[in-house]
Amino acid sequence: MRDIDRALVQAATAVAKLRCRSDNHTLAAAVRTPDGRVFSGVNVYHFTGGPCAEVVAIGAAATAGAGELEAIVAVGDRGRGVIPPCGRCRQVLLDYFPSIKVIVGPPDGLRAVPVADLLPETYVWSDHQVEVPAVPRTGVWPMPVVPGSRQSAED
Ligand SMILES: [Zn+2]
Repeated sequence: MRDIDRALVQAATAVAKLRCRSDNHTLAAAVRTPDGRVFSGVNVYHFTGGPCAEVVAIGAAATAGAGELEAIVAVGDRGRGVIPPCGRCRQVLLDYFPSIKVIVGPPDGLRAVPVADLLPETYVWSDHQVEVPAVPRTGVWPMPVVPGSRQSAED
């Protein structure tokens, strides 16, 4: 693993240690742009399905105007180390950043792998979009007549 990937793990670890101090925030993620900028985020736990740290970090990068992302890692609180992304995050990463590398593995064997390696035989959303012709508009809209809403011709 490259030094800049190790630095990304350190960045996420620092955010996890500093900001993940309750059950509401238990993971921190860090992303890196090709020009070396790093953005981070923590998960927002909620029983309705709060966002994972990876998604929050992607949003933070987007908020700052970052375009492409080249690497991401998530780290758990309480010294749990690198945590692999959940299935939903893997799909989001693949669809938004098909060439991103994800740092995974045990502490003594961390490696940066292409996101596609984490989703073999995956569904690629953009590959399955079909051009649907627009519904022709006639310019005549059949307005429904609601009783009592119009004056009749006899009035
Ligand atoms: Zn996730």
